[in-house]
Amino acid sequence: MSTKPRAYYIKTYGCQYNKADSERIAADYYARGMVEVNNWQKADEIVVNTCAVRQKAEDRVHGFLHNIDVYFKETGKPKPKIIFTGCMTHHGAEKILEMFSIVDEVLPVNEVGFNNQALRKDKNHAFVQISTGCNSFCTYCIVPYSRGRERSRSFEEIMNEVRSLADQGYTEITLVGMNVNSWGLEKVGVPLRKLLMDKDKKIDLKDLPENTSQYLKPDGLPPFVKLLKAVTALDEIKKVRFLTSNPWDFYDELIEEVGKNKKIDRYVHLPVQSGSNTVLARMNRGYTRESYLEIVRKLKDADPEITIGTDIIVGFSGETEAEFKETIDLVKQVDFKVAFVAMYSPRPGTTAWRMYEDDVPYEVKKRRWRVLDNLINQKHLDERPKVV
Ligand code: SF4
Repeated sequence: MSTKPRAYYIKTYGCQYNKADSERIAADYYARGMVEVNNWQKADEIVVNTCAVRQKAEDRVHGFLHNIDVYFKETGKPKPKIIFTGCMTHHGAEKILEMFSIVDEVLPVNEVGFNNQALRKDKNHAFVQISTGCNSFCTYCIVPYSRGRERSRSFEEIMNEVRSLADQGYTEITLVGMNVNSWGLEKVGVPLRKLLMDKDKKIDLKDLPENTSQYLKPDGLPPFVKLLKAVTALDEIKKVRFLTSNPWDFYDELIEEVGKNKKIDRYVHLPVQSGSNTVLARMNRGYTRESYLEIVRKLKDADPEITIGTDIIVGFSGETEAEFKETIDLVKQVDFKVAFVAMYSPRPGTTAWRMYEDDVPYEVKKRRWRVLDNLINQKHLDERPKVV
């Protein structure tokens, strides 16, 4: 007599890191003989892989769990096991179990190890994670708290995975990390991080890490450039992308490699967040508008075919009309082909949440959002590059 295999459903919110984590969680279920279903009402186990980057993302998680709760209460069917993971786990297991009574287990995000095999649906393009966590403390960002310090995966492990993907017929690879450019670089400034991890401590901008790269760059080729060369050297691999790059680690050797190595996608995603130096300083981003524009100029000099996309936050704490105009001016100069524009919402536990007022009214944020969306995304609808 054959028994029906147990079923799982994974709900993924947020960015490519979460998608990559979900692929590895799926592989774990597969190894245990479970099958994926595309309807959560039919699952024996539901994984909710959460995003905490904005309040809206957390609200969606609340909504989804509420729907599950209502459905199983109303139908009287046995409730599946609910496993909670992703960036919202930075709240701590105790708080999550208190917030969501239907959650059975909290899986810390760093336990979804990047060496676990992934179960991929796309058969041509694959995400390959090269690092996790982040050593930079942009004041608005929850990642250093939710994912912890940056850890680079070893060259051998990455290449084994890429070779195996090439053998399976994959031709496009996206190398994924919070700051891919710093992959394999030696880290600096650890003591300061301890202070910043103390979420209740009042801090000041002067307590933050120096507003520059957090890494020591070696003489000769930086490790990430060597990795790009190795991946693109495989005949089967036709296209390589990488996400995400930090402007303060977008060094000349990388620009040169992107310029001449045509297997690297001509689309470069380079988050700017703001075109105003005073806002960038409040965000603790490690660059100025001038240094950002200099990278863009060098990239376009290296190959005029290169197109640039970005992430921008509007309505960050204290953003004045004059500061916003500086962003408009930068946007016009760069001529971004795509932008992920977000209205600022403070994330509890972040430095900005501890230091600043969220003082830009919602209507102003919305108007600024519309201005940038029109200027970038609506203008380039027909030439929008494939981001991944
Ligand atoms: S570089 Fe800044 S925005 Fe990016 S993950 Fe790290 S802290 Fe967050």
